[in-house]
Amino acid sequence: MESIEHYHPEFVKGYAAQESACTCLACRHAQPGFPYVSIRLKNQQRESLNLACETAARQALLNPEAFVLHTEPKPAESETVLDAWHEALNQHCINLAIHPALTLEGRLYAIGVLLSKAQQYRDQGEQEPALLSAMAEQLADLAEKGVLAQQFALLPAIPEHQVAALKEMGAIRLNLDVPMAEKMAMALKLSELAILSPSRLAERHQAMAAQWQAITLFDEQPWILTNALIYQLYHQVFPGIACDNYGEAFLALARDFFCIKMLCAIRSADNHQLTAEEAAMLVSAFEAWKQQHPFPPKGDTTADYSLLCGLSLL
Ligand SMILES: [Zn+2]
Repeated sequence: MESIEHYHPEFVKGYAAQESACTCLACRHAQPGFPYVSIRLKNQQRESLNLACETAARQALLNPEAFVLHTEPKPAESETVLDAWHEALNQHCINLAIHPALTLEGRLYAIGVLLSKAQQYRDQGEQEPALLSAMAEQLADLAEKGVLAQQFALLPAIPEHQVAALKEMGAIRLNLDVPMAEKMAMALKLSELAILSPSRLAERHQAMAAQWQAITLFDEQPWILTNALIYQLYHQVFPGIACDNYGEAFLALARDFFCIKMLCAIRSADNHQLTAEEAAMLVSAFEAWKQQHPFPPKGDTTADYSLLCGLSLL
């Protein structure tokens, strides 16, 4: 039988090597096997973890080496093929996600630009992986020269999109393992977002964005958010094995990061310095909530429009 590559990232190994079983809120109510996830494809297999488990989130986000990949050959267990186009697209997205010359937002922007071009090629019936390589190389070069950062800075802000995304966050309920008073404070600040007027929401967004800027944790430990991004790309085989609307996939990714930033801002309000453990806890609780309440795909909008919406949330 033909053997395929089997990827074991360091964070999965780290989780498996723990001496005692996790007793986080998600693990206490989980099915056997949780939080392990195997993404089985005919031509590769990826081991991963469900980040709804708080320990899994800490392993994936807090270790700078979390995404060092260990590879070994194994027989295929699935008939689902990851085609060469989507395999290349996923790899180029991951490469841009770790580009050293870009900020987190710059990396997301670069991924957005790549997806926009990829969608054009795809819509024209051209799915030659070499086209993606050429585009990715060009983007990496522009990033190196600082041109991508300039272009990103010139993107017009579309406050209505940010206000709408903030309003949607009013539906989020996080099951946090913290003292009741803190849990209530977070719940109130979130549910309030659903009922504020657009002008009050715009003010709130500005205050939260300033709060986000004041967080020092992600400057000190930049790998936390880089890992959060690589995790999504790796775990979802982003933009998806059978995805045909890259704009929608990008919007979902950009919205995730918008929400994570705003959740961190809420938690760090009132002069509280966010810790790495708290950041992992928030990402984990948000993952758990998303899995119960997936954002419905808009469906009626074009890939270009979704992509633009996504860019406006960066
Ligand atoms: Zn757990």
